[in-house]
Amino acid sequence: MNDRQAISADCDVLIIGAGLSGLAAGIRLGLFGKRVLLCERHYTIGGLNSFYRRNGHDYEVGLHAMTNIAPREDRGAVLYRTLRQLEIDPDAIGFVPQRQSAIAFPGIRLTFGNGIDRLRSSIAETFPDQVAGFDRVVASIPRLKGIDAADSRSAREFLAEHLSNPLLREMLLCPLMYYGAATPDDMPFGQFAILFRSIFIEGMGRPARGVRGLLKVLIEKFRETGGTLRLRCGIKSLIVENDRVVAVELDDGTRLRPRKVLSSAGGPETFALVRAADGAVPQTSARPRPGALSFCEAIAVLNRSVCELGHKDTIVFFSRDERFAYRSPDGLIGSRSGVVCVPDAFEQPDPRLEPMVRVTALADYDRWAALDEAAYRRAKEEVFSQLMEVASLYVPDFSDHVIDRDLFTPLTITRYTGRMQGAVYGSPDKRHDGATPWRNLLLCGTDQGYLGIVGSMVSGVAMAARCLVDEPSP
Ligand SMILES: Cc1cc2nc3c(=O)[nH]c(=O)nc-3n(C[C@H](O)[C@H](O)[C@H](O)COP(=O)(O)OP(=O)(O)OC[C@H]3O[C@@H](n4cnc5c(N)ncnc54)[C@H](O)[C@@H]3O)c2cc1C
Repeated sequence: MNDRQAISADCDVLIIGAGLSGLAAGIRLGLFGKRVLLCERHYTIGGLNSFYRRNGHDYEVGLHAMTNIAPREDRGAVLYRTLRQLEIDPDAIGFVPQRQSAIAFPGIRLTFGNGIDRLRSSIAETFPDQVAGFDRVVASIPRLKGIDAADSRSAREFLAEHLSNPLLREMLLCPLMYYGAATPDDMPFGQFAILFRSIFIEGMGRPARGVRGLLKVLIEKFRETGGTLRLRCGIKSLIVENDRVVAVELDDGTRLRPRKVLSSAGGPETFALVRAADGAVPQTSARPRPGALSFCEAIAVLNRSVCELGHKDTIVFFSRDERFAYRSPDGLIGSRSGVVCVPDAFEQPDPRLEPMVRVTALADYDRWAALDEAAYRRAKEEVFSQLMEVASLYVPDFSDHVIDRDLFTPLTITRYTGRMQGAVYGSPDKRHDGATPWRNLLLCGTDQGYLGIVGSMVSGVAMAARCLVDEPSP
């Protein structure tokens, strides 16, 4: 690379990654008149929440359900507030509520819907002596604005203060950990409170036109605000001098010089891009650790909906043991607990969506990475069958109706999103202020501490605000 190759970037903020946080940040900055360049290494947008077409069938990755589907009249609810900040009409996306979801443990089942009442009634039927404690738990969860995301108290200890029944504690933790814990076995209270409110108090739903519809609205808005999207445009390195990023090097060797960089690539992944001008890796004690929790997901496309076979649940969070294990498994996958999602079990099923069953389970990145190509292919077949067998414990038998199938592994996640170790929920070391040791490099998205679809958008908006306010001089 010589100086002639270095080009001056025509942008104020370069955003790494066109996932939900990158898109939301790009829109918000564009609305404030900033020139934004959004660089995505993959050939399409969406990141962990995306879609693809295979064997003539439309698949979705990521979205089981959007959280935070509060009643529309609740204008202060985080989803609607965030969409207002992005100047997006919620009707342009259209949110279809879940029917009901379930938490299924050995011989016992709780159901919940949108709003806390249904879960409370289910607990009252199943654990009558725990209702007062459950009410105290609910009362302890503030609105999202009031939650200290950095509160690191143990969620397990918090629950034990209010609920004497260990099985109920496990059952409540199961959906929350599966939908957002970056740490094994327990989660920080801040994260627990966000997810408790997002899933149990507010609720879950689906964009009327699925992931594609949601992303289409976001990218159109991004373009309308004047932003530039470059696909197949990976960031190879961030060149730093002292406490600033002075240049951004793309995979093709081009150098850009944005005033600021906002990265949604993940904490450890972003730090791994940082180099001094002479190529040396700067020493810093602030380097976040890569996450250790990853997943496999088996997707079966069906010629008949399991809802027609009598199934009611949108999502089943299951454990086959009374104490559920949320940690990297001792094999390729752990099938003792997981999530079964039926994407057509929402209030008004999307007519364009083929019936499907999706089963998500914890997976061990290193074991998958150690397989050679033939063994990897065989393992995918075996794991698919294993996960379908598990699904049949919670969904009527659909084996005669499978017309296509796919399985993604931790390696798939790394390949398409760059997440180290296939860690969907990122590093255990969240940086809630988004700051890095380099003043004009900020993090947004999963490793800033807000995750999931709505959380990532909230993070994008919040970090855009930091880019606007906190203008370090060039
Ligand atoms: C199986 C599964 C199920 C899920 N289910 C749900 C659900 O039901 N509800 C829910 O709310 N959430 C769900 N999620 C989580 C949700 O999808 C994510 O939390 C969210 O999409 C994260 O967004 P992000 O912007 O933080 O990161 P990402 O989506 O990871 O975006 C980062 C982007 O940066 C790009 N990138 C990385 N490195 C570079 C580089 N060097 N140069 C250029 N680009 C780069 C990546 O390609 C990626 O597109 C699920 C995720 C998975 C995998």
